[in-house]
Amino acid sequence: MFDKILIANRGEIALRIQRACHELGIATVAVHSTADEDAMHVRLADESVCIGPAQAAASYLNIPALIAACEITNADAVHPGYGFMSENARFAEILAEHNITFIGPSPEHINIMGDKIIAKETVKNLGIPVVPGSEGAIDDGAEALKIAEEIGYPVLVKAAHGGGGKGMKVASSPAELHDAMATARAEAMAGFGNDTLYMEKYLTLPRHIEIQVLGDGHGNAVHLGERDCSLQRRHQKVWEEAFSPALNAEQRSKIGETVAKAMADMKYSGVGTVEFLYENGEFYFIEMNTRLQVEHPVTEMITGLDLVQQQIRIAAGAELGFCQDDINFNGHAIEVRINAENPRTFVPSPGTIEAYHAPGGLGVRVDSGVYAGYRIPPYYDSLIGKLIVHGKNRTDALMRLRRALGEYVIDGIETTIPLYIDLLSNSDIIDGNYDIHWLEKHLS
Ligand code: ADP
Repeated sequence: MFDKILIANRGEIALRIQRACHELGIATVAVHSTADEDAMHVRLADESVCIGPAQAAASYLNIPALIAACEITNADAVHPGYGFMSENARFAEILAEHNITFIGPSPEHINIMGDKIIAKETVKNLGIPVVPGSEGAIDDGAEALKIAEEIGYPVLVKAAHGGGGKGMKVASSPAELHDAMATARAEAMAGFGNDTLYMEKYLTLPRHIEIQVLGDGHGNAVHLGERDCSLQRRHQKVWEEAFSPALNAEQRSKIGETVAKAMADMKYSGVGTVEFLYENGEFYFIEMNTRLQVEHPVTEMITGLDLVQQQIRIAAGAELGFCQDDINFNGHAIEVRINAENPRTFVPSPGTIEAYHAPGGLGVRVDSGVYAGYRIPPYYDSLIGKLIVHGKNRTDALMRLRRALGEYVIDGIETTIPLYIDLLSNSDIIDGNYDIHWLEKHLS
């Protein structure tokens, strides 16, 4: 097992990883930019190293600075969290060259899933259902028109290296396709430095349902059920729950077992999320994330497993040590993302938190790194915390979420809390009756 882990991240997830390390008796190193000197993840770490200025490119994404921080502190592993370095295969390779363990899957698996075209081809060959679309990249307009004709409009043009909902454009007719390709290409180049595009059938009313998997790299893998992340704004998740209100136990184990088998066949190592769109009873793979997800606590609440501790154990070479039948699902969990944003316009609202009180009590979990007097820096994303509730069933969880949101005090900045209070009085939300477009329709 590792003696010391460097956490190459900030905010709530850095703190979350630290908790797992401390419970395992592993010392932690926090890294931070000059803008994060007062952050809670820095205060609670055993050691901390300033790795650069506020701009993430010069600090949290600065590979030489991260390696130097490992060398200075003698860290024997790095946990990348989500975002930043978490899906950077080159970083994992450089760490290996320095005899430092990257807590995550192999660089090879990160590369496969990082290219959505290769990812789709790979999982399709492993028996996972995918969205109908182009076989590989689309090079020119004439080819795009031909493929769109075959799969039928509307179609979605997507960036092979895309993420965060960027580089994606819908076209409903041949006339729109030309512009969709040009916009997606430009967005992809600007955002990801690569303008390879592919095409999919645009599903009109799907849910976003993702399967959490855990593999040990020795050929053992289990699924930990699904999360329904259909409530999205601009393709960004705001509310996640497990189980999905749309699936029954039979559908759950069927898709879960298909995914777990594919991961075992790949000898996948660590946690991963296989994302699907779900429409008319069918699953369609869209992508796989080879890292811990923001919404992982939802799965922890219904399985009782600590996913970060599992990642650490597996990175240290341990075998899974349990099988699918050992996973006991219990109750229902919901997570809402507390963002420092205006709840109507979603304009970021950085600033100083003047008063702070987080909810608590039975079945309530708050993952956050903020406190009264904390100044939210304007340089990073606006997630300041996650409220996760657990109940014996969905009705119970909704009731608990309503109660917990009512206890929150965050003064001095705007947050998305009022949005969730509003959603909880909506009959579609109460009935679990929503798809990926529901929230945007509701907001407009
Ligand atoms: P990213 O990596 O940018 O998040 P994804 O492929 O995961 O991209 O897609 C993000 C979101 O975009 C999905 O959750 C869904 O809302 C929408 N989306 C993606 N592919 C399709 C599709 N073929 N049809 C309809 N919506 C889609």
